[in-house]
Amino acid sequence: MARSTKLTVTKLQRRFNKLIRSDGNETSCITCGRVEGKMDAGHFMATGSHPSVRFDTRNVHKQCSTCNQSGSGEGAYYYEWMLDAYGANVINELKREGRRPIKWSQTRLQRILDLIKEGEREVKEYGYLVDEIKVSDYAGEEWD
Ligand SMILES: [Zn+2]
Repeated sequence: MARSTKLTVTKLQRRFNKLIRSDGNETSCITCGRVEGKMDAGHFMATGSHPSVRFDTRNVHKQCSTCNQSGSGEGAYYYEWMLDAYGANVINELKREGRRPIKWSQTRLQRILDLIKEGEREVKEYGYLVDEIKVSDYAGEEWD
């Protein structure tokens, strides 16, 4: 039986974002506190300018669609939240690592899928993500 198993960044981002939205650690929009309505997975460092941290759970958090879309991510509030939740060192790491060029090989995408599946198992069992998925988990030593 032939079926396509090719992984793409788009497909994985959809699944990753769903994982973020299902994580019980965050029960409300991180930038406005809203608990009801449509929730998005909002990136702190944007995927366009900082592509390599697009699958790092420290960089992606629950936001209502109003903040994420109409409010363009509410960057100032997001920054304050990040500072409080993670501190300046992690913010600097995400800024620095996010700019490093990364190649989305099938091997790397498979590694990311495995990490997402592990996260899905954690959410199913505990209701929340136990371990952060970090860029170093899927970039490894070899970035290209
Ligand atoms: Zn909001």
